[in-house]
Amino acid sequence: MSYKTEDAIDEEKPDVSVSGTGRNDALAWAAPSRSTADYRALDAAHHIHPFSDMGSLNRAGSRVIVKARGVYLSDSDGNRIIDGMAGLWCVNVGYGRKELADAAYRQMRELPYYNTFFRTTHPPVIELSALLAELTPQPFTHFFYCNSGSEGNDTVLRIVHQYWAAQRKPRKFVIARKNAYHGSTIAGATLGGMAYMHEQMPSKVENIVHIDQPYFFGEAASDQTPEEFALARAQQLEAKILDLGADNVAAFIGEPFQGAGGVIFPAATYWPEIQRICRKYEVLLVADEVIGGFGRTGEWFAHQYFGFEPDLITLAKGLTSGYVPMGAVGLHDRVARALIGNGDFNHGFTYSGHPVAAAVALANLKLLRDERIVERVKADTGPYFQRKLRQTFAGHPIVGEISGAGLVAGVQLAEEPLRRKRFANGGDVGAMCRDFCFNGNLIMRASDDRMLLSPPLVISRLEIDEIVSKAKTAIDATARELGAL
Ligand SMILES: *Cc1c(COP(=O)(O)O)cnc(C)c1O
Repeated sequence: MSYKTEDAIDEEKPDVSVSGTGRNDALAWAAPSRSTADYRALDAAHHIHPFSDMGSLNRAGSRVIVKARGVYLSDSDGNRIIDGMAGLWCVNVGYGRKELADAAYRQMRELPYYNTFFRTTHPPVIELSALLAELTPQPFTHFFYCNSGSEGNDTVLRIVHQYWAAQRKPRKFVIARKNAYHGSTIAGATLGGMAYMHEQMPSKVENIVHIDQPYFFGEAASDQTPEEFALARAQQLEAKILDLGADNVAAFIGEPFQGAGGVIFPAATYWPEIQRICRKYEVLLVADEVIGGFGRTGEWFAHQYFGFEPDLITLAKGLTSGYVPMGAVGLHDRVARALIGNGDFNHGFTYSGHPVAAAVALANLKLLRDERIVERVKADTGPYFQRKLRQTFAGHPIVGEISGAGLVAGVQLAEEPLRRKRFANGGDVGAMCRDFCFNGNLIMRASDDRMLLSPPLVISRLEIDEIVSKAKTAIDATARELGAL
């Protein structure tokens, strides 16, 4: 099969300022048009940031990021910062890839927008769907598009209920997990079991219930093995299904590994048991692959890493490497067949399958495939990163565990690592460590008392060394501040 979209367009040289492959060029720094102080004042005066306390942020002043190449960011003061988070887990191919800028430019010239509502379609969305069908594991045949992971999970709810309605067997409940993250729309936040997101407003989406998460370090009994604990947590699903009524549960949704919740990797016993239970009660199994998808674990999709087969997958982030917004839901052939030919699917967005986003996604996926980036994560940089982290923090006085695979990792900060005793003020300790990272020009995120890393998948061994050594410096500084080193 061939992808002809680009050939069909005249080969006029695009006039875009992104240059080089982005991997190896030095991060040239052109002075931005305003001073940092001016940027900060205007930002404080007019911009509300996501998930932020604007009062304290405005007092401290935001960091102004002006440029990026490869795995490095540059701020308005000319500091070079290594991005250990690939933006928000999304810039899988790294910053500054000309191929993606060219694809967007060409598509904007050719067809900047058209919808896919009223019996119309267009080449980029057709090519993207065909390529996704090829890159996803066997049974995923159909794709629905949206603009984000949150909208993807809203879409999942619509599909799940339509699936059961189409069979004249409506089922009411969807089961999710505490400390999950499924986005910030009302449905996304209801699915995600992050309590602080619910406290803000009284309304939620109805009929969504939660079971406990497979967070061994924080929640296992002292005599449980990781395997026993994960199995027990999976079996909560069966208990919950029986509690709600076996033919009243439409779906279960989970991130193969929890991302924002702390890069929590369940033991190998977890997902096979979840899958067994879903099959037994015919509950649809949804994998939220928004972070895990497109190579993060060294497999194309995280459910392949954990060895299970979902009925639906939510995609976003790495789908376009964050260059433009796009999300999608992948449907198992069985689900697609139930949906197709059963009347209208009453759901869609103005920008569903947006041609520019689709063209960028297509260029991005071709890079991941043709440069064998995922294979390199699996065979080389992933194992190197995991080994390096584990060696560096072995026996560290405030590091309780390293979780992760491929190019994603969580570092658990703990008061007594060997006894799995967490800090009473873990959130403050994490924030302190994050500030040390920030000042050391490393982007490393804190989720409560876990420090998270998820760098661009094109990162080199040398750059991994830099991240790990900067993380060590910050975690050592945190330990010293706490009197533990
Ligand atoms: C980021 C994320 C989402 C939400 O995606 P948005 O594009 O921010 O709406 C959903 N699920 C998971 C697992 C995520 O990490």
